[in-house]
Amino acid sequence: MSGDPVAIVEFNLGRWAAPCPTPFCRGAEHFGVQPWWLGRPRVGGLTLEGFVCLLSCGRAWPARWPAPDMREGVEALCNVRPDWSKRNWRPGETLHDLLQENADHGIGVPVLEPDRAGRLLVIGDDRIVEGMSALAAGAARPELATPAAVTAIGG
Ligand SMILES: [Zn+2]
Repeated sequence: MSGDPVAIVEFNLGRWAAPCPTPFCRGAEHFGVQPWWLGRPRVGGLTLEGFVCLLSCGRAWPARWPAPDMREGVEALCNVRPDWSKRNWRPGETLHDLLQENADHGIGVPVLEPDRAGRLLVIGDDRIVEGMSALAAGAARPELATPAAVTAIGG
């Protein structure tokens, strides 16, 4: 099996997607129905089980996804970004990297739980330990986001 092409899944423009691994194919497919900001609704050829290049070469390949905890963390930290074109992650980037990028752009975590002693978010490199609900609220109500006091742990 080693050496066979695999579709490498990334978070791209606010949805999970992968470029086609067929040599010289320029196709790419997304997971599920693509967001409204990317055009008419279409179900992409990327699933949790694999990749089918629906729009180009038509070939099927296995897909390499990040682990479920990592997927949740990537979605949570990207979806608080108000500009969907900035909601991007590639394998090798940690959740700390995404959090740092958010902080660099003044994007914080909404302060919805003031009784938690200022601790809003605890993350490892590959999972969100604490604060997922605050991030989800932030994605739904970006006007609440403020630069956060963040407690980060090593992953
Ligand atoms: Zn293809």
